[in-house]
Amino acid sequence: MLVMVLRKTLNLKHAFTISRGTKTDVENVIVNLEHNGLSGWGEASANDRYNESPETTINALAAMIDALSGPCDDKQIKELLALVPGQYAAQAAMEMALLDYRGKQLKLPLYQHWGLDPKDMAPTSMTIAMAEPQQMAIHAREASDFKILKIKLGASNDRAMIQAIRAVTDQKLRVDANEGWLDREAAAREIDWLATQGVELVEQPMPAAQLEDAIWLKSRSILPLIADEAFTTPDSINTLQDGYHGINVKLQKCGGILAARQSIEQARAQKMSVMLGCMVESSLGISAAAHLAPLADYLDLDGHLLVTNDPFDGLEMREGYLHFNNKFGLGVTPNQEIMRPEDCPTSKDEDMLEEFS
Ligand code: MG
Repeated sequence: MLVMVLRKTLNLKHAFTISRGTKTDVENVIVNLEHNGLSGWGEASANDRYNESPETTINALAAMIDALSGPCDDKQIKELLALVPGQYAAQAAMEMALLDYRGKQLKLPLYQHWGLDPKDMAPTSMTIAMAEPQQMAIHAREASDFKILKIKLGASNDRAMIQAIRAVTDQKLRVDANEGWLDREAAAREIDWLATQGVELVEQPMPAAQLEDAIWLKSRSILPLIADEAFTTPDSINTLQDGYHGINVKLQKCGGILAARQSIEQARAQKMSVMLGCMVESSLGISAAAHLAPLADYLDLDGHLLVTNDPFDGLEMREGYLHFNNKFGLGVTPNQEIMRPEDCPTSKDEDMLEEFS
C-alpha cells in the first residue's frame, strides 16, 4: 500500500473571526492511499484548541503509516488509531482514507455500506463569523440559499450583530458563543433575549471547563444548549448531560467516523440531541461527515463552503441541503484545477510530498 501525505492551505472567503481569534486561511493535511488500483482519501484539520498542529498531525500519520500493512476492517482501524492517542485530526484522516478505500472496494457509497438514507438528512446551517454588524448582515444576505444561519457571538456587541442580521433576513438562526460568555447570569440574560430573536439553540455559551456554570445555565435556559468545545470523545458524554441538551460531534475532534458514530449512539442513550459539525475542511472532510448526517438532528457541515480553493469535488449544496453524487466510498475526487500536478498521487516531487510505503 502506497501512502502519501501532503499539506494543503485552504483560503477563507472572508476573514473567519470567532471569540478566540481570526484566521484568513488554514493548513490541513491530506492523506492518500493507493492499493490494487484503488485510492482512499482522508483530511486532517489540526486544531490548536486541542494542542494539535500540522506537524503533530504529520508525525502521528507517519506512526500509523509505519504500522499499516494493507486495507483494514473496523477492529484493525481501531488498533491503528490507538497508536496515536489524542491525535484526533490525524486519526480522522487515516480512518477516512481507509473507509474511502473500503467503499470503493465494496462498490458502495459509505452511507449505503452503513444502511443510512440521505433522504433523512437535515438542512445544513451556514456560518456567519464575527465582523462589524453591517458586514455580517451582508454575509447573511449572501447566504440566502441556506435555511439556517449559525452566528458566531461572544463579543461586547453581540446584540448589535444579531439585530443587523435580523434586519435583513427571517432565516432560522443558531448562535455559537465559542466559550465567549464568562458570566453565567449575563449568559442567561443573553439567551432569554436571543430567544426573542428567533434563535433556535446556543452552542458552547461558556468555557468548557466551567461545568458547574453549564449545569446552572441549563436548568434555566429556554433554548437548547449544545456542547462543542466541552465535548471531544465518546467517554466525555457522561459528564456533559447535566450541563447541555446536546453535543456537537465533529470527526476531527473525536478521531474519525467510527468514534463519531459511537458518540452519536451514546448521546442517544442519554437522551441528548446531536449536531454534526466540522472544522474548516474541504469537500473531502465534509463528505466524510455527511455520510453520517442521516443520524443527526442538526447539521453544520459548511466548512468547504467557507473556502475559495476547495481541492475536492463531490458534494453539492442545493437550497440548504447537501447532496451526494453517488460515487463509491466518500464520493470525492481531487479537483485538478486546485490540486497542482505535484499534489497528485502519481507525482514524484518529494519536496511537496512526504511519501511512505
Ligand atoms: Mg462551535
